[in-house]
Amino acid sequence: MSGLTRADFLRGAGAVAASGLLPARAADPRGTEAPLDADVVVIGGGLSGLTAARELGRRGHTSLVLEARDRVGGRTLSVPTSHGHPVDGGGAWIGPGQDRMAALAVELGLVTVPSWYAGDTTYDLLGKVTRGMIPDVSWSESLDALRALWRLDRLAGSLPQGASWEAADAARLDALTVHDWLVGRGATPFTHAVFKLITRAVFAGHPEHMSLLWVLHYVGAAGGVLPVILNDGGAQDLRFEGGSQQVSLGLAALLGDVVRLAHPVRHVEQPPGEPVRVHTDGGVLRCRRVVVAMMPGDTMRIAFTPELPAARLDLAGGWARLTRLPLIKTSVLYPRPFWRDRGLSGAMQSDAAPLQLVFDTSPTDGSLGVLTCFLSVTEAPHLGDARTRPQAVAEELVRYFGPDAAHPLEVVEKDWGIDPWSTGCITPLPPGLLSRAGHTLRTPVDRVHWAGTETAHAWCGYMEGAVRAGERVAAEVHAALDS
Ligand SMILES: Cc1cc2nc3c(=O)[nH]c(=O)nc-3n(C[C@H](O)[C@H](O)[C@H](O)COP(=O)(O)OP(=O)(O)OC[C@H]3O[C@@H](n4cnc5c(N)ncnc54)[C@H](O)[C@@H]3O)c2cc1C
Repeated sequence: MSGLTRADFLRGAGAVAASGLLPARAADPRGTEAPLDADVVVIGGGLSGLTAARELGRRGHTSLVLEARDRVGGRTLSVPTSHGHPVDGGGAWIGPGQDRMAALAVELGLVTVPSWYAGDTTYDLLGKVTRGMIPDVSWSESLDALRALWRLDRLAGSLPQGASWEAADAARLDALTVHDWLVGRGATPFTHAVFKLITRAVFAGHPEHMSLLWVLHYVGAAGGVLPVILNDGGAQDLRFEGGSQQVSLGLAALLGDVVRLAHPVRHVEQPPGEPVRVHTDGGVLRCRRVVVAMMPGDTMRIAFTPELPAARLDLAGGWARLTRLPLIKTSVLYPRPFWRDRGLSGAMQSDAAPLQLVFDTSPTDGSLGVLTCFLSVTEAPHLGDARTRPQAVAEELVRYFGPDAAHPLEVVEKDWGIDPWSTGCITPLPPGLLSRAGHTLRTPVDRVHWAGTETAHAWCGYMEGAVRAGERVAAEVHAALDS
């Protein structure tokens, strides 16, 4: 495994301290009461919040990052295994066009490796298991699915990137679910199955519940349908050896004691003419501006005084109440990647099976075989019991990869459905919400600014979007502080 060493961390932190990025006691602009704790308090130590703090430091502003958990990284998490090969329990892959993440990997000395896709993909669609480069269906069915994907791509490209609610026909597109749209096109059952596969895999939702405008927004932010759905050459092209959480750990090390773990923020007060007050369990911090860097739904756990505008509450509340499939990411370790001997890539995609997606995430030297699975216990109640789940998942894998799959060395998982600080992981927005309240996604409320991947113009929902949103909000706060 390659990554940052402790010495690198300390060197980085020292360099940052020397360059003045560690929090000085910022001056209270009114010159009254106690000095400020920082120019800016950033709430959330995921990729977005950590990037925001770093960029603010580069622009000469002091900041403090308050993170609720006892770790940084948010929706990225490297889960240790007893075989010395940590696996990603959250965000894992990056791909072409995700320049910020690629640059951070280089800067932090992390190694990215190509994902393994050699061999046949396994498809479980409409109750039939087939293997090959593409699902085994008739030409006419393939053509219908391709036409629908092409149309989706064109529609997505016609909307303002990252601001789809500004489109002239936003309300019409937002009134439709993805399912309505497919029915309107007279889509074949196979096309319906392909879209269900995609919405389950990418958004943790079903076409019947998801706004067409939201899917177009997301696809447009990624630059089209292909980057989203392609594995090889798409958003699932590369992964971080040792896990993607290393990016956040590296950023936090560069920031040093700016980052405060186990500091859940409960309340943000903006008294007129006085510094902003940020209430944590450990006390109150005073600052000039606040950045909230998390999924809009997660902001509902924080009280704001004065109350946030109704449209903003509509957006955040709608996000928090979504009908989503609570996702578990499970990695199953074997002595070797035995499926490769049978010409299989280890990738499996399904529209309805208990396992939504499977990927081969074995170490590059092949010293272990690792199959990483996405599953939702709402759809597969027999996988609901955490004690019996490891063997039940292995048995599901036997359907696709043969009897060797029944005997794993180890099974590790991250259950996002029971995570106390992330309201799910990815978001299937329902009809109506984005066209009604999307304009509040990035709009500051007095001295509170919004970041998090969901606010990104490009690569919304991805790690790349989180970093870009952190950069955007830092520029926004800098401009506000300067003025
Ligand atoms: C299972 C899964 C698979 C994924 N796969 C990929 C992938 O392959 N590629 C990809 O690019 N992306 C993927 N993603 C998405 C990616 O992980 C996210 O887009 C990205 O990590 C979001 O970063 P963020 O900083 O915007 O938000 P978060 O990571 O959610 O960070 C928000 C932070 O705020 C903290 N917080 C919340 N409330 C409070 C509070 N009141 N006080 C203080 N702190 C608080 C949280 O603890 C968290 O650390 C995946 C996500 C999941 C869960």
